[in-house]
Amino acid sequence: MSEHVLEVTGLSQAFGGLRAVDGVSFSLDAGEVLGLVGPNGSGKTTVINTICGLYHPTAGSVMLEGNNVTGMRADRLARSGINRTFQIPKPFLDLTVRENFEVALNHASTVTLGIAEVAELVGLNEVIDKLAGSLNSTHKKMLDLGRALLMSPRVLFVDELAAGLMPSELDGIAHLLRNIADDRSLVVVEHLLGFLDRVADRVLVLNAGKEIFAGSLASALQDEQVKKVFLGGSSSS
Ligand code: ADP
Ligand code: MG
Repeated sequence: MSEHVLEVTGLSQAFGGLRAVDGVSFSLDAGEVLGLVGPNGSGKTTVINTICGLYHPTAGSVMLEGNNVTGMRADRLARSGINRTFQIPKPFLDLTVRENFEVALNHASTVTLGIAEVAELVGLNEVIDKLAGSLNSTHKKMLDLGRALLMSPRVLFVDELAAGLMPSELDGIAHLLRNIADDRSLVVVEHLLGFLDRVADRVLVLNAGKEIFAGSLASALQDEQVKKVFLGGSSSS
């Protein structure tokens, strides 16, 4: 029996009259990296928030390794194997990097990586005893990624990790994400298409909450509707 690691079907999320996510479906196999792209406000973060248990979906289902996890709360999902990073990380600012990692580890149901290993992986070993509040924004993002990794996710959602980083940092981050995907599946939200090209196996393009394209990034860039949305700057259909 072939079973996807993650299977999302007809996912919808409405806020009042706004259909922020409107019938989105995709699946992920082990080790796969899916890029999620679309203009600002197209629903990328809401897809993550809805799958990861911040909101209960208005419609649709989420299956993790054959188990229905639709609408499960974020903390339970994290223990079940779905985790995410935040577009704007929210570490405990008055705890050190190590203490932030300890909090994550205390909430993990499965431990595959230790704190030292994760600190090394995300490049934080030199600041491990510094307060999270004293870190620069790149390090805060890496702390958030490390926090998620310590919970041993089967599926990890990464929301605009590369945005705002120095161009010189992007190669390393692309490499790191590919590395992380050796053992799990990733959904990577990113505006920087050159970066995404190095990381994602395929992309899903959203506009106004709806999927408008799924396939390779190269073919997305040839697609008339995708070109219109990106070059025309309109996110309403
Ligand atoms: P993206 O991540 O693609 O930039 P978002 O998923 O953040 O887009 O937002 C999609 C749409 O949903 C936007 O119009 C946004 O204003 C709206 N939205 C997101 N979260 C909420 C919320 N909690 N309440 C009301 N509207 C929201
Ligand atoms: Mg977003």
